[in-house]
This record gives sequence, structure tokens and C-alpha cells, in this order.
Amino acid sequence: MRKTLVAGNWKMNASQQQTQALLSALTEAAPLPCDVAVFPPSPYLIQARDLLSGSTIALGGQDCSAAESGAFTGDISSAMLADVGATMVLVGHSERRTLNHETDQLVIEKTRQALKHGLTVVVCVGETLAERQAGHEEKVVGTQCAAIIAELSDSEWQNIIIAYEPVWAIGTGETASPAQAQAMHSYIRQLIAARSVELADTTRILYGGSVKGANASELFAQPDIDGGLVGGASLDAVEFLSICRA
Ligand code: PEP
Repeated sequence: MRKTLVAGNWKMNASQQQTQALLSALTEAAPLPCDVAVFPPSPYLIQARDLLSGSTIALGGQDCSAAESGAFTGDISSAMLADVGATMVLVGHSERRTLNHETDQLVIEKTRQALKHGLTVVVCVGETLAERQAGHEEKVVGTQCAAIIAELSDSEWQNIIIAYEPVWAIGTGETASPAQAQAMHSYIRQLIAARSVELADTTRILYGGSVKGANASELFAQPDIDGGLVGGASLDAVEFLSICRA
């Protein structure tokens, strides 16, 4: 049985003070009825690790380099994330695909690198509004998933989570309807099933895109939605906790 995961991506937001306030509120609310992970900006990872010490809330990085180490000013390696106590990492977030021109090939290289350092990788996929309006959403998401599905071994797949995040729903207040999200999640699961039914049954597929307390229950009730990747609402402890409780 796949257990619901609610993951909070803080993006380039928060401060030491907010990190303290948010994580104290989350740890005080334990036990939570689902798996929970937070992805603070890297300067706050060590502070977050210390605040989460003794809690079941997982810590993740928002991105990692495809390289092991070296002359990559400003980048952060998977080894560094693991070294400071992160157990997860996001790769292929639409903001990185768009703003940093990250390709599917780079996403697979980052994924490999993160897996090598023992991190669980949340691979983000999703189509733009123009792609959906043209009826190409399955083709786009299928291509984004294909490299990961084809290239990773079964044991590597144990540490992969897919996050379906339609770009038009990220930070816009517009959420995919539960039916739209379920249709794409089911499609992604079929793609994985074509490789291995067992992997398809056990892989968690999260939905991301303007998830809030008010819409989380309906989304999470869909059979192929195993939780959420939450941006804006993860910066508000009350709202984030209401998503976790949904
Ligand atoms: C995200 O950053 O991955 C995200 C889904 O953001 P939001 O919840 O704000 O739409």
C-alpha cells in the first residue's frame, strides 16, 4: 500500500526565523497521519536538520548538481545534501526546466547522481498550458517520464517518486481538477506498468499545483494520487498541516 506523502517545497522563500517557526509548528503537531517532507532553501538545511532531529519529517534539497564535485560555482552536490542530513531531493522542477533550461537528459543525470548518494529523488514532470491546450499533455509528460523509466534499474526505482505538476497550476491558484489530475496520474502509472506492474503499484505519484487545505482531500481521494508536492501553502504551518491531515 502506498502511503500518502505531503512534501513542502519552500522555493526561494523563508528566513532562519521562519524556518524555526514553521518547523517548530510541524514537529509540535506530530504525529501526522501521512509521511511529510520539507525542502527548505539550502542555507537553512542544517538549521532544519537540527530542528527536525527526532521527528519523522524528512528533509530534502530543492535541486542537486549532475556533477560529483568541482568547478560549478553556486551549485550543490548530492554528496553535500547527504552530508548535511538530507534524504531527499527534487529534480526537474518546472521552474528549473524553464528558468535554467534543464533538459530531460540533465534531469536523468541529476537523478543518477542523487541515487548514487542514497537520496530519494522526487522527479517533477508536467505540461505547460499551451501544451495542454494543444492536446499534447500526455506526449509531453510521457517523454519526460520515458528516460527515467527506461534507464533506471528496478532497485534504483525503489527510491524514485514522481511529482506531476502541470505548469499552469504552479503558483497560479489554478488547480487541475481531481479528474484531470487522476487521468494523468493513471497515465503515468500505466507507463511505469509497461516496464513493471510491481513498480507501478509501489511508486508514489504526487500531485503539485496550487494544493491547499481546501482542495487536498478531493485530490488525495483519487486512486492514483499518492500525496502532494506543495509550494506556496507549505510556507503557512496551519495550511500545510491541514493538507497533511487531508
Ligand atoms: C511547487 O512549487 O512545486 C508548487 C506546486 O507550487 P504551488 O503549490 O505554489 O503551486
